[in-house]
Amino acid sequence: MEKSIILILSFLILNSPVFSDGAGTSSVELLQPGFEVDHTRSDPKRSARTHERDYEGPVIDTHAHLYPPNERNATSADIHKEELNDIRRVMRKLDVEFVIFMPTPNDGIRRNQELGVVKRKMIRDIDPDRVKLFCGSNYITCWLDAAYHNKYTEVAVQDILKQLSEDIDSGEYAGVGEVGIYHFDKGYGRQRVLEFPPNFNPFLRIVDLIGEKGMWLDLHAEPVDPKGRSYEKEVFGGIELLFHRNPNMKLIYSHTAMTNPENVRKILNKYPNIMMNVKIETRHEKWKNLEPVVNTRGELYGDWAQLFEEIPDRFMIGTDFHFGRKGVEISKYKKRIKQVRKILGTLDPKTARTIAYENAKRLFVDSL
Ligand SMILES: [Zn+2]
Repeated sequence: MEKSIILILSFLILNSPVFSDGAGTSSVELLQPGFEVDHTRSDPKRSARTHERDYEGPVIDTHAHLYPPNERNATSADIHKEELNDIRRVMRKLDVEFVIFMPTPNDGIRRNQELGVVKRKMIRDIDPDRVKLFCGSNYITCWLDAAYHNKYTEVAVQDILKQLSEDIDSGEYAGVGEVGIYHFDKGYGRQRVLEFPPNFNPFLRIVDLIGEKGMWLDLHAEPVDPKGRSYEKEVFGGIELLFHRNPNMKLIYSHTAMTNPENVRKILNKYPNIMMNVKIETRHEKWKNLEPVVNTRGELYGDWAQLFEEIPDRFMIGTDFHFGRKGVEISKYKKRIKQVRKILGTLDPKTARTIAYENAKRLFVDSL
């Protein structure tokens, strides 16, 4: 490199502002939630619809993860086509028309996470009709968390915005995600905690860019932590702030917003551009205070069923399945889709098809 270029670069780096206090750079205040928050934690023993027959139509899975190879020093040669073909085979067998793969909120700290990007692109290139991709979280979420708790430079924010802009403009992606702002340890000390407020300046700038570009953002925001501490004010005030800044932004609020059905009803009525994905979580001990839609037997709670039938156009299936994760066999996906078909079978048939298939088709196929 030319000496003069090195000099200019060092000048730029040395003179780039360094922010050490995440909160201090959030000159924007959080807003009040845009609806009256109901702080009820639902009774896990409340009534649920019993399974009778399965929904038998096509399914679109709008929220799943595909992990990078786990070996130390892995290269793209460690991505095996057979694994990708197995996934395609199982999707075809289960009548899952397509899956949207995305990095997890924790991808940024995962070994070989760049290979995750390569692997997701590879399966999409093999089978573009069956695979769509969301991008970004691997270089966004963990970075935001570290930046908030430590320090960051303006140059680093610019780099992320540049990469995100390029990814969005590449036309390879259908959205950005899964970005997480409050992502607590739900796995008995094994899960990395992500925690920063939605008015953290770099987060707002990233969301502004996604909004400007008209992309979907898949957002994970837990409004209550496993110990029961409420972040409802921050999370719901943050949603109000995001829409205040970007009234037309398109948000997928993941896992039915992890709040009670009454709040979800209010959220969907207040914000017409919010969609939600439905995840089945029967292990309530791993989903503490996060309002699973099913009981521990996998039966759909009556209040959720009612809400789905009331506003079917706003929900989609998002299994949150972790393909390629160590110890997660593909047969578990079969089980998951079977559970999905069971709960859908308890809904009126039109609602079931709308949630299973029509909404995702409208958003990710017909509107492109
Ligand atoms: Zn999530």
